[in-house]
Amino acid sequence: MNLHEYQGKNLLKEYGVAIQEGIVANTAEEAVTAYNDIKERTGSDVAVVKAQIHAGGRGKGGGVKLVKSLDELKTESGNILGMMLKTPQTPGGMTGPGKKVNKILIAEDAYAPDFDACDEFYMSILMDRGRKCNVIIYSTEGGMDIEKVAEETPHLVHKEYIDPTLGLQGFQLRKIAFNLGLSGQAFKEMTKFTSNLYKAFLGADASLFEINPTLKTADDRIIAVDCKVSLDENALFRHKDLAELRDVTEEDPTEVEAKSYGLNYVNLDGNVGCMVNGAGLAMATMDIIKLSGGEPANFLDVGGTADAARVEQAFRIILRDPAVKAILINIFGGIVRCDRVAQGVVDAYKNMGDAITVPIIVRLQGTNADIAKDIIDNSGLEVHSAIQLQEAADLVSKVLG
Ligand code: GDP
Ligand code: MN
Repeated sequence: MNLHEYQGKNLLKEYGVAIQEGIVANTAEEAVTAYNDIKERTGSDVAVVKAQIHAGGRGKGGGVKLVKSLDELKTESGNILGMMLKTPQTPGGMTGPGKKVNKILIAEDAYAPDFDACDEFYMSILMDRGRKCNVIIYSTEGGMDIEKVAEETPHLVHKEYIDPTLGLQGFQLRKIAFNLGLSGQAFKEMTKFTSNLYKAFLGADASLFEINPTLKTADDRIIAVDCKVSLDENALFRHKDLAELRDVTEEDPTEVEAKSYGLNYVNLDGNVGCMVNGAGLAMATMDIIKLSGGEPANFLDVGGTADAARVEQAFRIILRDPAVKAILINIFGGIVRCDRVAQGVVDAYKNMGDAITVPIIVRLQGTNADIAKDIIDNSGLEVHSAIQLQEAADLVSKVLG
């Protein structure tokens, strides 16, 4: 689950991480109030208006604007609130439809009073699965595309691996500050910043923190100017307060609906819809679709119960994607017998009438697989059955032509 920038910053602040202060606004009037509050606190007319959407690169799409007066604030918040913001990270990128901006963050100018004396660093924390530990990735080249930095100047991207049994050690904090070229007060501030940031990461059961830019100000403070936070959904049960921060309007509506049915669904780019029981089998199914020349349109784990109602929900979710040209149902009948699943597929199909517009290939393996194949073959519906997975994948390629 992803947080908005302002929510992520609130989380960091609770752990003592210094942030670019700001106030979130839902309307033009709230933006004015927020601006006046910030002006009072900083004594400056300068502030930043920042679109709050679940995508980075907002600056590139015109979603981050510096304003120098109340008039400019009104103009920019009017422009940004409600706009369809396109960034390299919104669906379809800069040529896609963009994402609607429902909230803006009115923030203090973190670079004041001396923009040129500021340094923008990059810092992120995530898990390195290969090394089975968390890693802090950091660079002096912050503010811009870290992917580009990693590609063109990989020696400028540093990594600090954290032994899970020892935790983040003092010498590592000092190494990070040193590699960022800091000394004196800024050096001390950076060790504190990194230490608290890591505590927040662990405390929130996060899967990703990305603070780009992490700013060194002219007076040697270190602050988080941007903040991307992804939380581990499997740990949300112990973070009720964080779970409440979910903004479903930012998520893929089909994925949200699937979740409400208890279906584990992820939308992908291909044209073969998949309905599978078990995450491992779902992965294997996607692999074999690819090996047979197709592209999976989704990942979908229907879980343990594959009765007619559930199969119907899954059909409807998959068919919402107009790119789907065929559906492959691949179910292993262990505890659920194949004949019951087959009956569920036939019942769901009949119940949906002409809502099913693409060929269906069903591969049922396990208990009563033969009876299941008979049920499918004798249903009179346009459903192709198979028992071997390769056979099913070949059928998919055949119906796609
Ligand atoms: P992103 O484009 O989604 O990554 O949003 P960021 O929060 O990183 O902001 C984009 C860019 O806007 C930053 O890299 C800065 O260059 C600039 N920016 C953000 N906040 C301030 C600010 O307080 N003052 C100034 N002068 N520039 C800012
Ligand atoms: Mn950023």
